[in-house]
Formats: sequence, C-alpha cells, structure tokens
Amino acid sequence: MSLIRLSICLILFVTWFPAQAQRLGESLPVWHTGQLDIHHINTGQGNATFMVLPDGTTLLVDAGAINSLDWRTNAPRNIPVKPNNSRQAGEWIARYVRNALRFQASPVLDCAVITHFHDDHMGTPSNVTKRGRGGYVLTGITEVGEHIPIRKILDRGWPDYDYPRSFGGDSMVVNYRRFLAWQTQHNGLVTERFTAGQMNQITFVKQPELRSKYPVEIRNLMVNGAMWMGEGDKTRQLFPDLKTLKAAEYPNENMCSIVFQLRYGKFTYFSGGDIQGVLQFGAPAWHDVETPLASILGPVDVQLLDHHGYADSENGTLLANLQPRVFIIPAWASSHPAPEVLNRLFSKEIYSVERDVFATNLLPEAKAAISDFLPRLKSQSGHVVVRVEPGGKSYRVIVLDDTSETYTVKAIYGPYKSK
Ligand SMILES: [Zn+2]
Repeated sequence: MSLIRLSICLILFVTWFPAQAQRLGESLPVWHTGQLDIHHINTGQGNATFMVLPDGTTLLVDAGAINSLDWRTNAPRNIPVKPNNSRQAGEWIARYVRNALRFQASPVLDCAVITHFHDDHMGTPSNVTKRGRGGYVLTGITEVGEHIPIRKILDRGWPDYDYPRSFGGDSMVVNYRRFLAWQTQHNGLVTERFTAGQMNQITFVKQPELRSKYPVEIRNLMVNGAMWMGEGDKTRQLFPDLKTLKAAEYPNENMCSIVFQLRYGKFTYFSGGDIQGVLQFGAPAWHDVETPLASILGPVDVQLLDHHGYADSENGTLLANLQPRVFIIPAWASSHPAPEVLNRLFSKEIYSVERDVFATNLLPEAKAAISDFLPRLKSQSGHVVVRVEPGGKSYRVIVLDDTSETYTVKAIYGPYKSK
C-alpha cells in the first residue's frame, strides 16, 4: 500500500470510527447506512424485535403486551413491565423505536409482522382502558401504531382470520382488526397475509437501489403449517386437512407461527415465533414442526429462541442443523427458559462449535431453576442488539440497560465472523 493510500485510510479511520463505535457505559450509537441492526427489545411483556435494514427500511416483528392489570402479569410467574409500569409495553416499544430512528425526521415502521395471535406477540385488550383515535383499545401492536405510523402489516390470518377456526369471538383479534380497518382507511395501511416460500414480502423500500450493494434476503419459511421446500417458492402442508380432524385436534396457535430467515451476505438470522418441536405424550407426529423445518435449513449465526425457550422448543434435530453461534432468549415468565432446553443449547454432543447465549430477562424463580447454567449465560437482562457490519461479514452482540431510556451499553461481545 502506498503512503498516500495509507494516510487516506488512517484519516478515514480516525474521522469515521470514533463516531460509530459502541463503548461500555455510553449510549448505543445510531445506525448508519449499510449496517443491519436487530434489536430484541425487553419490556418484560413478550416479544418485540425491531430491525433497521442496511438501506434504512424498518421492520418490527411482534409487539407483545400481556398487560400489567391482567391476571397473567399479576401472577408471580411473570416479569413486571420494563423499564417501569408508568407506561404500557406498546408505548415503551414505540419510544425505543423512535430513539433508534432519531436519524429520521419522522420515524415510520415500513413493515410489521405479527407471528401469531397471542398476547405476548400482539397485545391483549383485556383490562386496558386506553383507546386510540379509531376507538380500538391500545395494547401491543395497536399502541405502537398510535405513536408511529405503520405502512404494512403481515400476519397469518388476513383477510378472513379463519384458520384453523374463526377468530370472530376472540377479543384480541377483534380489537386488532378494528385497528387494521381504521388505519387502512385513515393512514393508508396495507395488510397482507404472510405467504410461505416468498422472498419479496419484506424488502428494501427506503433505498431499493442499494439491494445489490447490501444483499439482504428475507425468506418466508413457514406459516399455518405451510413450509417452504428449500427451492424456488415451492411449499408443502405439514398439517392434516382439517376435515380429517376433530376440532380438539386442530393445530394450536403456536404451531401456526410465522417463521422466517434473514440473510445478509454470509450472515444468517432465524426467527421461529412460538413453534414447537418436543412432542407431548400421545400427540401426533405433525405437532413437531421443528424437525421438518430443520431438514431445509443449514447453519445460522443468530437464532431467536423458539417459544421463549419453553420446554417444548428447540429440539436436537433443529439445533444440529442450525448450529447457532448466538442464541437470544426472549423471556417473560418463570418457565423461560426451561432447564432441559438450556441443556440442549449447550450440548457439545448435538454440535461442537462454540456458542453464546443471551437472555433479555430472567425472573428469580427462573434463575433458581436454571442455577447450574447461570454462569454460562452472557446476559440475564437487557435489550439485546445484534449489530451486523456493512456487507454482513461480521457482527457484534451489544447488551443495553433496560431499566431506563438511556440505552446504555452494558456489554459488548464479538466481533463474531459470519458463517
Ligand atoms: Zn409467545
């Protein structure tokens, strides 16, 4: 390298690098073009994963709110609202997103995905009195939408919301559909059903011309039991025809979850909602959806744990095929994660490479149950941010303080080399 080139590199390094690097004890520096940020926001109330794609397109996957007045949170098995109970989870999520998007004059969510219709992924209206401009109750995704405009929503039910049975009597889905109708009419919201096998439902919308420079692909792997077959956009149905089942035997809500994989260059991220892979005694084999899914997947860098690490998730076949380097556990109850799941996660018999495990939250009761594993966890509380460098060759995992809105960096792991 010539002396001139070397000096130019040095100048670029000192002028650019200090502004961008994350440091312990300081706030997380803002996203910049080319970077992929995946924020696992901890409200203690369920899943909320916020992404900024390399062109600035924004994506929110789930917005859980099990609600501070609801029986589920009053139960000692659940985590109180983080940072505190002065606001509901949906508003905390919106405030987190606004702060992360402070480089935009008017923050918007280009896309939101609801993986399935449970309170810890979309918000429940029960015991909530706050109402939005459209008359619907503000909770989870509907509360996020009150604070930040959402351009497009993908879910597993649009437009009929009738698989495997009608949601007409489900207050959560009824409230959500009122929100969709009002936002469509007044704010131009577009809703689509998430379709397995597709690769064009979540793409760059801010600067599509950057797609070749920053190659991101989001592949829809599974929804409602329809699974991508690993080539083209072909799918097959894992669940039996409903006509052959009694109502009590229908697929449960968790099994119907939206599953997707994101690739950025060599970097791969897997998100499986609340799918399950460990059969209950007497359950039919098709209740295990992780095993067939594993057959179409190769190694990934980061996995968001299925079903919060509950005992029925993360079977050995899935782990042997995905071989994640980094696990993120979105925990909100004393049963998250189960000791036997951690046993599998750390098992060198299932796969041999090193792995780091991060939890967004752990209740004292959960800590007592998994005490043998605690020293091996890289985090026990905090927002967990995966920050992928431009091009996708490497990434870091950054743990942020979740007790206030300073977003102070508590720990930095990596850089990890993408597979
Ligand atoms: Zn869940």
